[in-house]
Amino acid sequence: MSGFVLVDDGRGRRRGLFPHLAALGLVHAVTTRDGPDLGDEPSHDPAHAVPVGALAAELELDGVAWAFQVHGDAVLHAEVPGYAGPGDALWTDRPGLGVMARSADCPLVLVAGERRDGSSILGVAHASWRSTVQRITARLLAELVRAGADPSRLRAGIAPSAAPCCYEVGEEVRDRALKELGPGAAACFREREDSLYFDLWAANRAQLREAGLRDEAIVTAGLCSLCRNDLFFSYRREGAAAGRYAAAIGTVRAP
Ligand SMILES: [Zn+2]
Repeated sequence: MSGFVLVDDGRGRRRGLFPHLAALGLVHAVTTRDGPDLGDEPSHDPAHAVPVGALAAELELDGVAWAFQVHGDAVLHAEVPGYAGPGDALWTDRPGLGVMARSADCPLVLVAGERRDGSSILGVAHASWRSTVQRITARLLAELVRAGADPSRLRAGIAPSAAPCCYEVGEEVRDRALKELGPGAAACFREREDSLYFDLWAANRAQLREAGLRDEAIVTAGLCSLCRNDLFFSYRREGAAAGRYAAAIGTVRAP
């Protein structure tokens, strides 16, 4: 099973999919710069609901919940569609409801699976470097487990983002990571030609593994938003004018 595939959404727009998540019977998508661009309006602006609503309809969801991403550590429980408040991760167990996060370079981590009673539970994290060192993915997993998820039956997909080939950071980022995540985080940094690079994929994979996900249940898309700026918006390449791609996941309500 290929880890991450780009498909045509039927309207000539490329969409990213994780086959191992699709196999769970859920709907999900990683959008590309083919659209919709989720970056035109601030998250709390009612106008933001328009492109999100269109994405929800395409995924055959009743609606999608999203947060105002603040590079923090808050995990929100989404129970209704729409703006859920400030936070960097959302989860839900509501049939028909999806959760979404948006990005231009930051990894988005999709998690889905079953509770011990067989019902679906899922979430998404916006794992910017600041949220990653604040353990946003681990915190999302902790909430899912608290809500009854069995970690050995969860699967995760790490969407395209700035990758270790391009994600140059300052020494203060490594200092912060070592302080917050412990000495093991040193393995997520590489030095090349006097520059320092942070492997956010590895840092988030570590949080998923520590939460009890099996190695084979964690798939990294492996596409860099800077190298593949033709496909994905990149804040580092395009600056403040960069659009936003999104990762959304949900369960379709039984008719
Ligand atoms: Zn790259």
